[in-house]
This record gives sequence, C-alpha cells and structure tokens, in this order.
Amino acid sequence: MCLRARTDRLEGEAMQEFVYTAQSVRVVFGVDAWSRLNAEAGLLGAGKALVLCTPRQRALAQRALDALAQRGAGIYDKAAMHVPLATVQDAGIAARQMETDCIVAIGGGSTIGLAKALALESALPILAVPTTYSGSEMTSIYGVTEDGQKKTGKDDRVLPRTVIYDPALTLKLPLGISVASGLNAMAHAAEGLYARDGNPVLALMAEEGIRAMAGGLRRLARRGDDADARSESLYGAWLCGTVLGGAGMALHHKLCHTLGGSFDLPHAQTHSVVLPHAMAYNAAAASPAMQRISRALDRPGLPAAEALHDLAQELGAPLALRDIGMRETDLDRAADIASSKPYWNPRPIDRDGIRALLQRAFEGARPA
Ligand code: NAD
Repeated sequence: MCLRARTDRLEGEAMQEFVYTAQSVRVVFGVDAWSRLNAEAGLLGAGKALVLCTPRQRALAQRALDALAQRGAGIYDKAAMHVPLATVQDAGIAARQMETDCIVAIGGGSTIGLAKALALESALPILAVPTTYSGSEMTSIYGVTEDGQKKTGKDDRVLPRTVIYDPALTLKLPLGISVASGLNAMAHAAEGLYARDGNPVLALMAEEGIRAMAGGLRRLARRGDDADARSESLYGAWLCGTVLGGAGMALHHKLCHTLGGSFDLPHAQTHSVVLPHAMAYNAAAASPAMQRISRALDRPGLPAAEALHDLAQELGAPLALRDIGMRETDLDRAADIASSKPYWNPRPIDRDGIRALLQRAFEGARPA
C-alpha cells in the first residue's frame, strides 16, 4: 500500500523553510474539566494558591477557592481591563501576605493579564481557567498600564503552565463579549497565517481555529446557551491563542494597539472593526493566507476581507470605528502613529494607504 502524506498546501504553493518552537502548556479541555482544578493545582505543587478574578466573577472565584480546599490561600478580586500598575502592586502585596505559591486566574484576558504581571516579578506558576475567547492564556505576552501607557513584552515566565478550558463556564458569557472576543481571537489566527515567522503547524491551527470560532459564533448568535457551540468556540479560542503565542503579528495588531492605546477605543470591538480592513490592505501580498481564511469561513469564492466583514455583520458586531468612540478628526493622527515606526507587514506600510483604510473602517464601509 502506498501512503501519501496529507498536506494542506494550496495548489502551486511551495513548502517554505521554517522554525517551530512548541510551547509547553498543559491543556485540559472539556465540559466539567473545571472539576479537575484541585488535582491540576496539585500537579503544579500548589499549597497556597491565590485565585484572581474581576469583581464581576467573584462568585466563580469563590467556587474555585472552595474546590481548591487546603490548596487555596484566598481571592484577589480587583483584576481590571488593561492591567493597571496599581492593581498589580496591590495584588502583589496580597500574594506576599498569603505566601502564595501558585496563581489561579479565572476569567478573561484582563484577569489572566494580571496573573502574568504577577508572575513576571515572582515566577509563580499560573493555572489559567479562561472564560472568554481572547486567547491570552496561550501566550507569553504580558502588558501593564502605567500613566495611560500600556507597556507590553514577552517572557516565558508568564506563560501559564496549565490551562483548563471548560465550555460550561462560558455559557453565560454575554453574546456581545463572546462575539467581540471571538473575532479578536480570529484576528490572531488571521495574522498568524501570513506571519514572517509562521510555520505549517501554526497554519493548520490558525485555519482550524478560524473555522471553529466562526462556526461556533454563528451558532451562538442563534442560541447563546448552545453547549456544543460553546465548546466549538472555546476550542477555536485555544487554537487561535496558540497561534498568537507562536507567531509575530503585523498591521492589524499595530492598528488596534494604536487605536486602543492612543484613542482609548475598546480592545475587542476595535479588533472586530479593523480586521476586515487590515486583511483587505494585505490581500494582494498574502494571497495563500487569504485563501485559507476564506476557506475556513466557508466562503471560498469570496475575498477574505469581505467574508470577515459579512461574518461580523451577521454576528451583530460593530462595523464602524465611529460607533465605538473614534472621532473623525483623530484619523490623521492615528494614521501618523500607525505608520511612524517601521514594523514587518506582508505589504509595506504606506501612510496614505493606512489613512484610506482608517477612513473606510471609520465609516463601516465594505473593505476595499
Ligand atoms: P476581559 O477579561 O476584560 O473581560 C471582559 C468582562 O467580561 C469582564 O468584566 C469579565 O468579568 C467578564 N467576563 C469574563 N468571562 C465571563 C463569563 N464567562 N461570563 C460573564 N462575564 C464574563 O475581556 P477579554 O476580551 O477576555 O480580555 C481583553 C484583554 O485581554 C485586553 O486587555 C487585551 O489586551 C488582553 N489580551 C491579551 C492577550 C495576550 O496574549 N497578552 C491576548 C488577547 C487579549
């Protein structure tokens, strides 16, 4: 019998040289995976785990502390968007007072971000239990905000050691946050497909991640408590987050960082508005990536940018920067900032092209 390796390459696409570094994260996935919290914390050697959460998720954190029993030390419930330095310092004091030996982060990117900031100083192991789709749990990227500036970096110490994905914990995630954080996740996968340091393994994960996330979100838009759709979306979140952890990002993330950091636009919603336009800008320079995105969205005949725009519309996501707090008078400055420092992108960054992109995104026009 002759076996042929199944490859995912597009017709005529050559195999590229690549470097692949696998990330060492233990992933426990499934409905009720959460019931393994105590055992998983034990595998990390936890004896005094500090549970982190936002004020809104305090009840869930209390359930975690109860489940941790003698391994739990206490709860810090002031995790906040963009990881303010004052919060990191305050949580650090709590961790030291409790002589914490493990951080259990339950929540979205904000809570996991606080865990990372603590681990950066203390090298404490993180056990993450994500309850949104943002994917921060699969990366060694951290960020802390001081005086309105978010400083980001990469450090292996902040990569969670164990991640428990339990779709049941996402059943009550409001549809708006589900869609916004899901499209945010898809943006990581989309840019991973044309990353300069991408590789075939991440490409497989990226395409499958987009497929799972889009499929899950389409079903959730019809019925938010569809348990199977929640599983599909969370599986997509894991894949998309892994791509973000393994490959560098480009124009799309630079634009979102600019709009969030300098104009205070909401993180996930900004991603969902900008993504189709960033893909349109890069379309001609990253054709195989675009074909994969269209294929993953089940719209193989449509340009990826338009397929993403249609998906956002179908899911009721915001389509225009003007609807999420951007002022038209700030577009010139945004274009200046986004094109000022050079960074890699499949299509070279030109200021006029970026300004035109921002205008279309501002108006919510179909990407061109
Ligand atoms: P979030 O963590 O800010 O959570 C948004 C709100 O949803 C919070 O009030 C939270 O309490 C609530 N919430 C979370 N899960 C819930 C649930 N299951 N049910 C009900 N409410 C729930 O949102 P996010 O989109 O997950 O994270 C955004 C942040 O993550 C941004 O600051 C972004 O920069 C960061 N991020 C970092 C990385 C990274 O690799 N470092 C990757 C992606 C995002």
